[in-house]
Amino acid sequence: MFLDSGASVHISNDEADFFSLRPIPPRSVNGIGGSSIQAIGVGTICLVIVRGIHITLDNVLFIPAAMVRLISVSALCAAHRCVASFDATNCWVQARTGARMLSGTLTSYRLYALSGGLLSAEHAYLAQQLPNLQSWHRRLGHANYRAVYDLARSGNATGMPIDLSAVPPKCDHCILGKQTRSSVPKTRSGDKASRRLGIVHVDLMEHPDMTSATGNKYVMDIIDDFSSYAWSIPLAAKSDAFPALQAWALAREVETNSKVGLYRSDNGELKTESMHDWLLSHGTQHQFTAPYTSAQNGRVERLHRTLMGKARAMRSACGIPVNRWDEFILTACYLSNRTPVISQNGHTPFERWTGQKPDLSNLREIGCRAFVLVQNRHNPKVYTRSVKCILIGYSLDSKLYRCYHRESHKVFVSYHVSFIESHQCSSPPPPGPPPPPELTPVHPHPSTPLEETPVADITAPPLDTPQRSKRPSHPSERRCLMDGKPYVSPTQRAVLDSLATAERLQNLPSTHPST
Ligand SMILES: [Zn+2]
Repeated sequence: MFLDSGASVHISNDEADFFSLRPIPPRSVNGIGGSSIQAIGVGTICLVIVRGIHITLDNVLFIPAAMVRLISVSALCAAHRCVASFDATNCWVQARTGARMLSGTLTSYRLYALSGGLLSAEHAYLAQQLPNLQSWHRRLGHANYRAVYDLARSGNATGMPIDLSAVPPKCDHCILGKQTRSSVPKTRSGDKASRRLGIVHVDLMEHPDMTSATGNKYVMDIIDDFSSYAWSIPLAAKSDAFPALQAWALAREVETNSKVGLYRSDNGELKTESMHDWLLSHGTQHQFTAPYTSAQNGRVERLHRTLMGKARAMRSACGIPVNRWDEFILTACYLSNRTPVISQNGHTPFERWTGQKPDLSNLREIGCRAFVLVQNRHNPKVYTRSVKCILIGYSLDSKLYRCYHRESHKVFVSYHVSFIESHQCSSPPPPGPPPPPELTPVHPHPSTPLEETPVADITAPPLDTPQRSKRPSHPSERRCLMDGKPYVSPTQRAVLDSLATAERLQNLPSTHPST
């Protein structure tokens, strides 16, 4: 982290630095040599100087492509009424009482690197803010801790900053969601595929709980034997299975430029004449497992159990109705493909299928608070800027978040979402309504709409439910008051935010090495 005497705004390239962050429409910021990089958020960073003493940096621009983090000396002095002094090689920032707040040493980049004890302060701050093992367990759909740990250490995924210093507690939701049945034997019969789509395991399961809010009653699970990559397709009726499999096969064959060699399934819904004719015309084999010995189809059985367990654990953590089970099956499948499996020697199915390591930087804890930006141009300014939802999953084709709005039972799909995860709260998130008991049939909410709702259609709640009031109070604000340091209230900050950010962006000097 650098102190910069020329920049007029603070910059961070790491989302994990922010105590609060709200998305802004992408704005160009001038970098070195006239190059341009995009700021996509603005928020607050709490910098720990020594244990228990913080400095709050407001209006910090979040610029993922920036190569360095910058503290603007002028913005710092203006906000905290402190004084900066410079000599040929050093820079000091002092409070009016004379106490030293920050110091830096000039580097060849013409920036002052934070020096001495401040680095440890920065580390203390980062250690506090980095997602920990428990957080990644939740981000990866309640994957087992060992798999999360191995993934973090192996480097088989990117975008996975993690604090491994603490032993995670037992997870209630995993016990609730996964402790249900004995395991399916892991013995496999038959040869292993030597290429993608060489062998494909398929199975159709009826969901034991109920018809989903979107009308689904079945799930067709498909797993590629070679890569362990899986697809879960919720279906309304058994008769939908065959056309869904045809569509899936066409998409995969176009994607991989190779054909399915063999389907392996049990004697179920896929043993039909039309399926037989279709396979014959494609020269594809279909192998059936013996009746009542579904362990022979163990691969897909285990997948189904894994997905159901993760889906139950995530739904329990979210505390939302059972009739959203299909959302969580899709989320479980998305995350399982990005979690290492033993049969792939610790690599992820995603890497084995695509040849690239998965980038996990977009993942957030399923069930965390998600504030979806209201993008309705007619949204009056007196309304809050976002609606409070719960993160329930990801759009499969792009990096969009699926967020459940508890009050309206709607699912919003948006890129512009701010999250508060467990490692960012000093206190646990407020509990949602308790999850409905698994054994009691729960009927779908009569007004639950299908699928998803464009964010622009949200009617923003009136001012009496402000977004900012939902976040936990910041300890450093108390500290500021106790220490007699200037303290900016959330309201003042919001006003300053909107006034200052645009102006500072305009004035950002073009000579600073932000790339
Ligand atoms: Zn768990």
